Amino acid sequence: MNFDKITDNFDREHLWHPYTSATRPLPTYKVRRAQGCKIILEDGTELIEGMSSWWCAVHGYNHPVLNRAIEEQLKDMAHIMFGGLTHAPAIELGKLLLSVVPPSMRKIFYADSGSVAVEVALKMAVQYQYAKGCPERNNFVTIRSGYHGDTWNAMSVCDPVTGMHRLFGPALPVRHFLPAPQSRFGGVWNEEDLLPLQAVIREYGRELAGLILEPVVQGAGGMRFYHPRYLCEAARLCRENGLLLIFDEIATGFGRTGKLFACEHAGVEPDIMCIGKALTGGYMTFSAVLTTDEVAGCISDHYPNAFMHGPTFMGNPLACAVARASVELLLSSGWKEKVQRIESQLKAELAPAKTLPQVADVRVLGAIGVIETRREVDMAWMQRRFVEEGVWVRPFGRLVYIMPPFIISREELSRLTGALVKIVGEMKI
Ligand code: PMP
Repeated sequence: MNFDKITDNFDREHLWHPYTSATRPLPTYKVRRAQGCKIILEDGTELIEGMSSWWCAVHGYNHPVLNRAIEEQLKDMAHIMFGGLTHAPAIELGKLLLSVVPPSMRKIFYADSGSVAVEVALKMAVQYQYAKGCPERNNFVTIRSGYHGDTWNAMSVCDPVTGMHRLFGPALPVRHFLPAPQSRFGGVWNEEDLLPLQAVIREYGRELAGLILEPVVQGAGGMRFYHPRYLCEAARLCRENGLLLIFDEIATGFGRTGKLFACEHAGVEPDIMCIGKALTGGYMTFSAVLTTDEVAGCISDHYPNAFMHGPTFMGNPLACAVARASVELLLSSGWKEKVQRIESQLKAELAPAKTLPQVADVRVLGAIGVIETRREVDMAWMQRRFVEEGVWVRPFGRLVYIMPPFIISREELSRLTGALVKIVGEMKI
């Protein structure tokens, strides 16, 4: 491997990468192209993709069906404003989405990214409560270890410790945080998990517009898998007390947890739901906020008789076209069997890590495999070791985890799991 060729001076000097220092950045590796489950670096080194570009690329890269969808749409129009105009890609995608999301989701608001979808969802909840004659219901409750994005309000409902509250604290709206449910997915349900939500609702219920959480799988806030029963009980409490229930399915949606949407593990439908990431198969930034006739109707029938949001690139035709192609491809691709196969392989092949002294926990759900280490990982060292082993894995904090594209072969997945167990075993104790 030629490290000079796969790093870039201009990039190091001028380009700011996610969560990175501009003056002393960790190395970034220069990608020439990506194909299927492989990332090909400038020097020809091939890496097996373990991250699906942060949950997105479920079909792998450079997929002919998705490429064609964009190419065909480009011949008609790349973009057109959504205010006062509409188009077939938005309509056809909408029809398809309504056929797969929980049936009470009837209205769709397209947005530009996951974080923006969360902003839209929170605004929707506040505007609904305002329309209902409860303007004092304008705050939110959420569970710890959550992650909902990096924009202002999304940040305010991220975990207050692992999120960015320490830095932005005084500038952020103050939310109510509950301990994350301790009952594990697949474990025994403990009623006590509900007590904090009951207490907050008892004390502050009349100030709360809604409860926002990631159903079943908490992603970037801790990679935790909790008991679906929590969602059933939380939904009941929200309904009894006038709070809207908002599910952030941006990471969990489109099959990742073994169900098409994670809320299906609980058989619970939210009032508002955010989807994004794998919506376009990782081709473009795009998201959608879905809601019920009740929420949309109440907002629309009261002053100002409109929902007050309208991004420039709302309903972008290229994004809608590729999203439709991606969802159709997913539904016709045997995704469920693929995810089940990945799940059993992850369980079998990550199990040996449980005995390593560096490891605190190993957990798998659907196409997500997590090794939680006892100490924080040395990112620069570990990233480099993964690249040397020919895989792409990006750990953070004490989490070394993978969520590969669903098309990954048995052999490719074994390379990933093998590298995970090997490199975590090399960590200093
Ligand atoms: N919600 C969840 C659950 C996410 O995982 C993410 C992205 N990691 C977001 C929201 C924010 O999405 P985006 O990065 O597209 O703004």
